[in-house]
Formats: sequence, structure tokens, C-alpha cells
Amino acid sequence: MASEAPSLLRRTIGCGLVGEFDAAGRREVVITGWVHRRRDLGNLIFLEVRDGSGRVQVVLDPSSAPDAHESAQHVHAEDVIGVRGTVVPREAVNPSHPTGRVEIRAAEIAIHNRARAVPFPVDDESESNEEARLAHRYVDLRRPRLQRALRTRHALARAARRVLDDLGFLEIETPILTRSTPEGARDYLVPSRVHPGRFYALPQSPQLFKQLLMVAGFDRYYQFARCFRDEDLRADRQPEFTQIDLEMAFATPSEVYGVAEPLVAAMLREVGVEIETPLPRMSYAEAMDRFGTDRPDTRFGLEIRDAAPAVAGRGFAVFDAALAEGGVVRGIAVPGGGSASRKMLDAWSAWAREAGANGLVWIRTEEGGAVSSPALKALGEDGARAAAAAVGAERGDAALLVAGPVEVAARALGALRLRIAAEMGLAPKDRWDLLWVERFPLLQWDAAEERWVACHHPFTAPRWEDLDRLEGEPSSVLAQAYDLVLNGAEIGGGSIRIHRRDVQERVFRALGIGAEEAEAKFGFLLRALDAGAPPHGGIALGFDRICAMLVGADSIRDVIAFPKTTSASCLLTGSPAPVDGRQLADLGLRLEEAD
Ligand code: ASP
Repeated sequence: MASEAPSLLRRTIGCGLVGEFDAAGRREVVITGWVHRRRDLGNLIFLEVRDGSGRVQVVLDPSSAPDAHESAQHVHAEDVIGVRGTVVPREAVNPSHPTGRVEIRAAEIAIHNRARAVPFPVDDESESNEEARLAHRYVDLRRPRLQRALRTRHALARAARRVLDDLGFLEIETPILTRSTPEGARDYLVPSRVHPGRFYALPQSPQLFKQLLMVAGFDRYYQFARCFRDEDLRADRQPEFTQIDLEMAFATPSEVYGVAEPLVAAMLREVGVEIETPLPRMSYAEAMDRFGTDRPDTRFGLEIRDAAPAVAGRGFAVFDAALAEGGVVRGIAVPGGGSASRKMLDAWSAWAREAGANGLVWIRTEEGGAVSSPALKALGEDGARAAAAAVGAERGDAALLVAGPVEVAARALGALRLRIAAEMGLAPKDRWDLLWVERFPLLQWDAAEERWVACHHPFTAPRWEDLDRLEGEPSSVLAQAYDLVLNGAEIGGGSIRIHRRDVQERVFRALGIGAEEAEAKFGFLLRALDAGAPPHGGIALGFDRICAMLVGADSIRDVIAFPKTTSASCLLTGSPAPVDGRQLADLGLRLEEAD
């Protein structure tokens, strides 16, 4: 029997679970779902039916179920159907598929809906353009890869919540319509109708509210917090994203680590990865020295070393000038680079320049022992060998050296290290290297704005022992801040906060925020700090990034149900969208003519 009318077929089992039944039992089942594929072999029709749990094969035999067979002739990919039938062992077993040992012999088919407009095939193989996929995200999301990604995201969220619940954290929501919380990006603003000319800001993070919750006596808070940052979306960012945000009263950094570590371990366990805790810790200074970045990928070597003692005073003008100006000569050793081609050496030099270096000096030590380098004459053979040895290059390796200011050399060598490792496949795919980077500077000089800015955010506490130097020697003050790094990606960051009004006022002053501005923007915080604020600290983990890494996705878009493009548009709904004049008038707004 076939029908176009609403059917009484009620699902008894998910498609992907059918294989778990004992096929010999010839059990009757009802499945519902989407037609994934149809194959018409003339006498028999095979349908693959898909729902959230997976896929199963259905056979339609005209001799035993003529009506069902007849209606299966007219179904197409993505039609929504129900099938009643009997589970039987399959003749052509497909052992690699979870339901590959069985099939359903259909007795009845109900067609719930025809899919008349399917913009692209629902499979992981066919390449269709990204714009079409985002515009029809509800179809794209049916693909097994994205289904898996969002299901894993759910499992990771559940694992994280369980850990936090067990550790006595309370999930508390904080406002979305609020005022600016500086985290270094532009705010998304929402105009107020009731207060014309005034604006809410969407939170860049719940930072100040979570601190207020500490003052309020909820001494362990967490939230899956949506954060909004209006940035030029380089790389893999989204204008709205999710953090696992937490805060603890009376906490030291180690106590925050003691929560974040089991949290991340529980998420990794969901994808079958066990890690050892406590995690290693590294100072910011060491990370910059050894890896040229504050988020080192420690899965492979290529560490940066100092070549200055080996090259100083040998008469190579480039190096001597850099050292004379207070700069450095540093480098990395590339294993096997002794036989690198000219083309490869040119590519490495280009990468170093792209990352800001003036140039790259290479020294090749061939297996046979011969040394070559454009600086061979200037350094002398002994000098070249000594420089290569200083950065750890042995026979058969290449040494790549950069001279210049310490930050320039760090950035260039850090970037070079990553690109060469990627090129040579040096980072094992199945390794999960986590570490804490700590002891960041509190402030950094913003040359463009000509003022000090907070490295983390303005509420981060300086190390108490450094506080006296805040006014006189701000660059020497370290912060009680820490980042959590996984395989070279920052997956979390936090700090111990300032819990005393006088200290917060001093830090505001150091940041060039005068008393009036501090009162206008952060008066509520200052008053709260004066109302019995406990010492406190916390962290926020980038949940989208963690999910993407744990499902092996290239982009966080793959773990966000409805992501935006790199230009912050939603191609599905067409946001941001123009609004009509009435709405603008209600808000007291008028648009200027675009030039
Ligand atoms: N609010 C910070 C951020 O979004 C995290 C924290 O300090 O807890 O990066």
C-alpha cells in the first residue's frame, strides 16, 4: 500500500541502528527518513534511507509488495518517506557499513514529502560551491560529515558540563544587551528605541558580569557564552562564537588549571584521546625564545636557537650590524635541509620576508661534509660551521638564520618553523600537545596609538610583586595571565583579576584611562570592587575551535550550525539586511547617503 496522505507509519527504530538487530529474527520495523540514493535494477529497487542515526538499505520486490515497489519507482533523492518492512540478512554484505549486514524488505512505503528543489547532492564527496552550501545550509547539514560534527559538538558540550557540574560550578546566564566589555575588538551596537541616541553593545565576553558574580558570592560560575566581536574576519573567525566561560573566587592560577585540565581532558576523551595532566607550563618569554610565538606547536622540533656567539665579530656586516643595534641573530635547523634545492631555499627566504624579516641566511651542510651558504665568504667556513652548529644543524641539515630586532626574528623564525613543518609533514596528526603559556607582560606599547594597551584585558591582575613598577617601568610588569595552547592553537585564555579598586584605578591610569572615563565606563565595576570583592580569576575556552580540532575540521564553520561568511554575512537568511524607514525612525536613526 502506498499513500501520499499522512501515514500512520510511526518510526520504531533509527535507520543507522537497524543492523544491531538480530537479522535472523526477521523483525518487523518502521523507519523514517530521507531517500539517500535509489537504484532501480528493473525487477528490484534499492533505496538507501537516511536519518540522524545513519543509513540502511531497503529492498522493494514487486512480487511480494507490488504497491510499495510501484511508489518506489517515483521517489527521488531527499524525498521524505516511511518504510514498514522486515529486517533480513543481506546477500551482498558490506562489512564496512554499520548496517551493511542487513536490509529491510519493504511491505509498505509512505511518502511524507517530495523534495522538489535540492540544490546539491547530500554526500561528502561531491564538491559544490561554498556559497550554495551556506545559502541552503539545512541541506548541507544533512551531510554525514556535518551531522557527525554537530553531534560531536553536543557530546563535547555535555562532557564539559558534566565536569563543571561535578566540580560545583553553577551555570548562570549574563546579558546579551549590555555595555561595551573591552576585549580588543569593535563592539556590535544595538540602538535603543526607548532611549533614542543610546546604544547597547553585544558582549565581547561576559568578563565583567562574571567578575560581578564573584562579588555576589557565586564562587564558581560557568556559562556556554555567546560572544560577539566586530573584527575584520581574517583567518578562521566568526563574528559570534561560543566560549566555555568560567570564573572562581579565591582562585590561584593553578586552581584554574585544575578545573580547565579535567574539562579539556573530558572533551578529548569523547573522541578517544587520553591526555596526561597536570599539563606542562612555559613562560611567555621562553615560548617566544624557543618557538617565536606565544602559542607554540610543540609536536615537532625546529626550535629557535641563538647564533650570535658563533657569528659575532666574524666580519659579516648584516649580522654585526644587527647585533650592534641591540638585535639578535637566531636560527633553526632543518633536518635533511643539507640537500635542499635552490628553489626550496628561495621559498624559505620568501617566507621569512613575508613574515617580516629583511632576509634569510641559509647554511647547507651536505652529508659529505661540504658547507655552502651565500654568507660563506663573509663568515668564513669555520664561522659558517659554527653558526650551523649553534642552531643545532648537523651533517645533512640546513641552518636558517635571521638577523634583526628580537621581535622581528621571533616572528619570522616562528612563521618559518610552522610552514616548514607543514611542508615536511613534521607534526604527527595523532598527537595532542597541550600546554600552559604563562607570565605574559601586563601591558604592551601600541606604537600606532602611542599608548600602553592591556595584553589580555584591563581587568587582569599584575603579579603582586611587580605592582610597584607599574608607573615607573610598565614594560617590566608581568600579568597573572595564562593561555591554554593545543597543537599550536590558542584554545583558551584567562587570568587572575584585579579585585581591589585602588589597583584597578592604577591600571586604568597606566592604560591612559582617566578617572572620569573610568567612572563613566566602569564605575559599576569600581563600586563593586569596593563592596567586598573576593580575589578571583578564571578562563574562557574557545569552544568552536576545540570542537573543530577534535572533529578534524579545517574550519570552525564546520562545527557551527549556521555560520557566517568571512565578510560576516549569513547567506541563508540574508543578514545583515536593510530595514525600513519606519524602523529607523522608531530608533531615531537616519542613514547617510553612501558615497
Ligand atoms: N574574557 C576573556 C576572553 O574572552 C577570558 C577571561 O579572561 O576569562 O578572552
